Amino acid sequence: MSNNTVRVRFAPSPTGPLHMGGVRTALYNYLFAKKYNGTFIIRIEDTDQTRFVSGAQDYILESLKWCGIEPTEGPGIGGAFGPYVQSERKHLYKPYAEQLIEEGKAYYAFDTAEELETVREKAKLMGMPNWQYNHVTRSSMKNSLTLSQDQVNELLDKETPYVIRMKMPRNQDVRFEDIIRGWVVVNTNNLDDKVLFKSDGMPTYHLANIVDDHLMEISHVIRGEEWLPSAPLHFLLYDAFGWECPKFAHLPLLLRPDGNGKLSKRDGDRLGFPVFPLDWRTEEGELYSGYREKGYFPGAFINMLAFLGWNPGTQQEIFSLEELSEAFTLDRVSKAGAKFDPDKTKWFQQQYLRAISNDELGKLIQEKNLSSFDLEKLEGIASLMKERATFIEDILSEGHYLFERPTTFDETLIQKKWNEQARALLKDWKIVLHNLNNFDKEQIEESFKNFLSERNLNTGMFLPIFRLALTGTGMGPSMFDISDFLGKQECLERIDIALEQLP
Ligand code: GLU
Repeated sequence: MSNNTVRVRFAPSPTGPLHMGGVRTALYNYLFAKKYNGTFIIRIEDTDQTRFVSGAQDYILESLKWCGIEPTEGPGIGGAFGPYVQSERKHLYKPYAEQLIEEGKAYYAFDTAEELETVREKAKLMGMPNWQYNHVTRSSMKNSLTLSQDQVNELLDKETPYVIRMKMPRNQDVRFEDIIRGWVVVNTNNLDDKVLFKSDGMPTYHLANIVDDHLMEISHVIRGEEWLPSAPLHFLLYDAFGWECPKFAHLPLLLRPDGNGKLSKRDGDRLGFPVFPLDWRTEEGELYSGYREKGYFPGAFINMLAFLGWNPGTQQEIFSLEELSEAFTLDRVSKAGAKFDPDKTKWFQQQYLRAISNDELGKLIQEKNLSSFDLEKLEGIASLMKERATFIEDILSEGHYLFERPTTFDETLIQKKWNEQARALLKDWKIVLHNLNNFDKEQIEESFKNFLSERNLNTGMFLPIFRLALTGTGMGPSMFDISDFLGKQECLERIDIALEQLP
């Protein structure tokens, strides 16, 4: 493929928040453009005013920004093919629909909503529940194919509402090659006369979409599988205008973790994971949770998304955005639906957390934590906790005893291990610690081993007591690391407190 010819677009409709399937579509477009030094465009398709949701456009743009999916052209960025919001270019579409009428490839239809409803009802009664306005039924409807030119002119003069419909050719095989799905063949007898231009003066998605793809010189249309049924119509529209059709690539669906059906916006919070990149609150106040607010790193999120429907063909799983754009090819995108895996998503997040240097992580902890600890202390906490955490929040909650003294002690552990002998041992061990001149982890560990062997004890008989005294819990990082981090004075004081407070 020659460079600089690749122009792709992500064309969301602002009808609600962007689902993670949408983010994946944007991501694949972005990666494809990067790979071939092409251009990645964002175009907002807001011609359906009845489905417009306020705040959705900002949400979409903010989500992509959070993910690092930066467009080359788009709303708020500009570019030579703008404006990039369809409602801002609405004057542009009608002449194209009229051109098709003049050429006999489209027609005016004056049927009212009630008339259409009546026809549908009648057809239902006659056992045809899926009535369509098509190459057969159009001849008995009220349109510029059945009315005389004078009647049509009169209706137009009287400003009778109308739509413009595609005059679907009869019995023609439409064939085009989809990069992911291979050859697609559909007979036009199975396609209806889709509305291209609506009575509210706006184009439909179909017309606006192909006019803009043409004007914006889009080379590849990479979009979700749900648009595959529209592709034959789009192909025919390009043909009708005599324009070159972009190449199509329809991406596989995202499926629920059990593989049972499409992942929908309600599944997430019901099954315990977000399906949206950012939190979204509906006008009714309902909250759909987002990956950002759950504490995921954008890198982990997009790394996971990249693998939903694509694989590099190697064992490598961790990819930066940059690496993804080098590795990405459409021919490694699968046809089959991609099952979303919440555990794998957490795994990616863990890997990203572990890969962060301690000083970086220290800074991130600082942003979330109100303790007076300096950065060096926080770096220490980062290094102690990062192998055990998935989110930064885990470091704060599971490692709470690194920030402050424990206020409670684990009940089950007390029941199991705490007794007079344990108390005596803890007192002795405190003396050993007190007498250490080098209070570092190696020294502490060595003394601990001696302490046990002198008394013929094994680790399990005393380490949990030591842990209970210093942290209040039964699990965590190495006790020698923790003691080293807390320092001698603090360790001794915590042991005193434990001796006082434990039953
Ligand atoms: N506006 C359509 C959507 O909401 C775009 C489909 C396409 O990419 O052609 O997904």
